[in-house]
Formats: sequence, C-alpha cells, structure tokens
Amino acid sequence: MTDLDVIENYRDVMARVAKAAADAERDAGDIALTVVSKTHGAEIIEPLLQLGHRRFGENRVQEAQEKWPSLKERYEGTRLHLIGSLQSKKSEDAVALFDVIEVLDREKLAHTLAAAMEKLGRRPSLYVQVNTGEEEQKGGVMPYEAVAFTQWARDDLGLPVIGLMCIPPADEPPAPHFALLYELAEKAGVDHLSMGMSGDYETAIHLGATSVRVGSSIFGARG
Ligand SMILES: *Cc1c(COP(=O)(O)O)cnc(C)c1O
Repeated sequence: MTDLDVIENYRDVMARVAKAAADAERDAGDIALTVVSKTHGAEIIEPLLQLGHRRFGENRVQEAQEKWPSLKERYEGTRLHLIGSLQSKKSEDAVALFDVIEVLDREKLAHTLAAAMEKLGRRPSLYVQVNTGEEEQKGGVMPYEAVAFTQWARDDLGLPVIGLMCIPPADEPPAPHFALLYELAEKAGVDHLSMGMSGDYETAIHLGATSVRVGSSIFGARG
C-alpha cells in the first residue's frame, strides 16, 4: 500500500459512510469513522493525520504506547480509542493514553478504571462491550446483563459510560447483533453505538451505529 492507496481507500470509506447515512435517512454528521490502525506503523497512519483525520482505534495497550504518544503530540485533537480487551492491571496505562475505552465488560475492570481516573485526573469516555453472540472466547457482558451493568457503572460508580460496543460472531449475519445492541442501548439510556467493521459498516449504519471501526478497507489486509 502506498500513501496514495491509503488516502484513496479512506476517501472511499468516508463516501460510503455518507451514502449509507443518506440511504438510512440519517445525518452523516452523527456517524464517526474510527480508523483502526492496529499492526500498522506510524508512517502508514501519518498521511491520514495530515489529511485531518483524528479518530483512531488500537487493540493493544502496549502497541499503542509505542506508536501514539509522539503522533498525539504532533497532531492536536487526536482521539485514540481502545477496542481490544483490557487487563485490569493495565487500567492506568489505558486511562493515561486513550481518550475512549470501548471494552468495559466486568465489575473488576470498572473498579480499576474508576481508581485510575481518580488517580490520574483523566476521564476517557467508556463504552460497555456486549457479547451479543454469547461466544465463550469473546469479551463483553452477556446481553441479559448489559442494561443493569451499564446503569451500575454509570450511575453507581459514576463512570463516564456513553455507549455500547459489539463485535458480532464472524460466521453469522451481523444485522441481528446490531439490532440487539441498539435495543440494549435504548433500554440502558446511552446514545452511542460502536458497531460495524470493514465487512459490515454500512449495515451497522442502517441499524443505528454512531461509530464504525474500519481497518482493512483502508490499510489493506493485515499481515
Ligand atoms: C481489527 C478490529 C476492527 C477492524 O476490522 P476490519 O475488518 O479490519 O475493518 C474493528 N473492531 C475491532 C474490535 C477490531 O479488533
């Protein structure tokens, strides 16, 4: 991939997001693109920062620590989203670097994030990850406990929970999972829905996504 390929792919994804929004009779301004830059080096990401894009997703704390502090310093307004599972003991590192943490999925993590926020005086926005497919190997709270967990984290612990996130099972049509996440967010009283990846972000937009996470459609397949 050359810089030009990446920029062309990015523009194509932005255009498809706008088209899907229009088709769904939604305001394109209500849907944000999180460019997933995991596994890619700063030199591939930087052309998009130069173009003005500021919202990126990474799935590993350590990889993000190696890559992002200098980029964040140089490109003001950069917002980094953590989209991969987080060990409780890395809560402080995550709170220090990320602006949005999309993987809150258990009580212990809620407590360690709350403590890290208190200590560092930084409050990244949080999404509760929901395991809509109830897959054993996947993170996320179960759908039946998602509403109560979200309300507990937000109202009892006082955490800045703003939405729900899901990763549907790879081998199932995603639409029912997106519809379920929408319904749970309504019940929990949160406004943001992070759902949809390269293969299904247009479907997710039709079903109410406010944030789509796209990597390979922009950077090519990961090695
Ligand atoms: C890697 C990843 C993505 C991006 O997936 P693509 O199919 O490359 O667009 C989105 N969300 C999560 C949680 C991921 O880990």
